[in-house]
Amino acid sequence: MTGSKHAEIAGAGYAGLTMAMLLAQRGWTVTVHERSDAVREIGAGIFLHNNGLLVLEEAGLMEELAPKGERLLRDRMVDHRGRVMQERDLSGPNTRRWSFPRQEPIEVLHGAASRAGVEIVTGSAIKSAHPDGVLVGEDGRDHRADLVIGADGHRSAVRSALALTRLERRLPTTSIRFLLPGRRLTPEPMSTEYWSRRRRIALAACGPDYTYCYMACPESDSPGSEAPINVESWSDHFPKLREVFELLHRSEAYKAYYSWVQAHAWSRGNVALLGDAAHALPPTLGQGSNLAMSNARSLVTFLERIKDVPAALVAWERAVRPTTEATQAWARHYDRLTKYWPNSMSGVRARIIWAFGASPQLSARMRRADRTPPITDLVRAQKAMR
Ligand SMILES: Cc1cc2nc3c(=O)[nH]c(=O)nc-3n(C[C@H](O)[C@H](O)[C@H](O)COP(=O)(O)OP(=O)(O)OC[C@H]3O[C@@H](n4cnc5c(N)ncnc54)[C@H](O)[C@@H]3O)c2cc1C
Repeated sequence: MTGSKHAEIAGAGYAGLTMAMLLAQRGWTVTVHERSDAVREIGAGIFLHNNGLLVLEEAGLMEELAPKGERLLRDRMVDHRGRVMQERDLSGPNTRRWSFPRQEPIEVLHGAASRAGVEIVTGSAIKSAHPDGVLVGEDGRDHRADLVIGADGHRSAVRSALALTRLERRLPTTSIRFLLPGRRLTPEPMSTEYWSRRRRIALAACGPDYTYCYMACPESDSPGSEAPINVESWSDHFPKLREVFELLHRSEAYKAYYSWVQAHAWSRGNVALLGDAAHALPPTLGQGSNLAMSNARSLVTFLERIKDVPAALVAWERAVRPTTEATQAWARHYDRLTKYWPNSMSGVRARIIWAFGASPQLSARMRRADRTPPITDLVRAQKAMR
C-alpha cells in the first residue's frame, strides 16, 4: 500500500478501531467518526476466540491485554437436573477462548489506533454515505476518501444510505449481563452455562478480578426479563443458584437484546460494511467482535493485493462471507434451542447437546469461525478469489 491513501470510517467499535489501526499501520491516513462523546463499550464481559485473538496477537497487542483477561481452559453446559450435557477442552489452539471485562480490548485497540496515527473524532455522527467514497456527517459535511467503512453497528446509517439492508431484525431474546467483582464463584479458569426450560445462565472467570455472568430468556418471559432480576422466578428454574441470584439482584445489570442483520452486499463502490453493520448475529457463539476483527484483517490483505478498491472489496466479501454466514446461522440455531424448545422435551434437548459435544465434526461445523484464521497471506487470498 502507498502512504497516499485515505480512509474514513464510521464507528469506533471493534470493527472500526481494528480496521483503522490496521490501515494506519500500513501507511494510510485514517479518520474515525464516533457518534458518542467517548470511545466506550457498554456491557459486562466479552469472550474472544481464536480468530479474533490471532488479529490481536499479530498486531502485538496480547501482551498488553493478557493481564486484564483470563484464558479459559474448559467450558461446561449443565442441564436442569445438574447433569453435565457437554464439557469442552479449550486448551487447543483452535478452541482457545479468553474472557475480558468488555471495555479492556476496546481500550487497547483505541490506544494502538491512536499510536498508529488514526484521528478519532468523537461526537461526530454520520448521516449517510456515497458509493464513490464519501461519508456525510449529520452536520452536513462531506468526508471524502479512497475507502469508506461503515462500521456503525447493527443499525448502520451507512448500510441504509446505500440501500444494502436485506434484513434487520430485533430477535425476541432478553439478555441480562453482569460483571461481578471477585472470583469466588469462578475460582477455576472456566465457564459454565446452565440450562433450564427456556432460560440460560452462565458464570465465567473474567480476568483475575471478575466473574462474568450472562442470562438469557425469551422476551415474552416477563419474570425472566425483569431487571433487577426476579430472584424467586430464577431460583424456581435453577434452585441451586439461589445465592447467585440474590447477589445479582443487588448488582448492576446490563440489559441487551439480540439483533440480526443480513445485507444484499457488503460493499458498494468504495464503501464497505464491516462488523455488525454487515452481519449482526446472536452472541450465543461469542463471535460478533471476533468476526469483525478477523474480517477487518482479511480486508487489509485484499486491499494490499488488489489496487482497485471496489474490486478488492468484492473479492474480500466473496472470501469471508461464507464463514460469517455459517456462523450466523449456527448462532441463531443455538438461540432457538433455548427459546422455542418445548419444556416437556428438555431431556431430548440435553441429548442433542451431548451429541454435538461428542461429535468433532458437528462441533467443528458449528465453530467454523474459531477455526478459520483471518486471511493474511496473498496465496490464500488468491485461492479465495478463484
Ligand atoms: C449480549 C451480547 C453479548 C455479546 N458477547 C460477545 C462475545 O462474547 N464475543 C463477541 O465476539 N461478540 C459478542 N457480542 C457481539 C459484539 O458485541 C458485537 O458483534 C460487536 O460489538 C460488533 O462490533 P462493531 O464494531 O461492528 O459494532 P458496535 O460495537 O455496535 O460499534 C459501532 C460503533 O459505531 C458507533 N455509531 C453508530 N452509529 C453511528 C453513526 N451514525 N455515526 C458514527 N458512529 C456511529 C457506535 O456508537 C459504536 O461505537 C455480544 C453482543 C451482545 C448483544
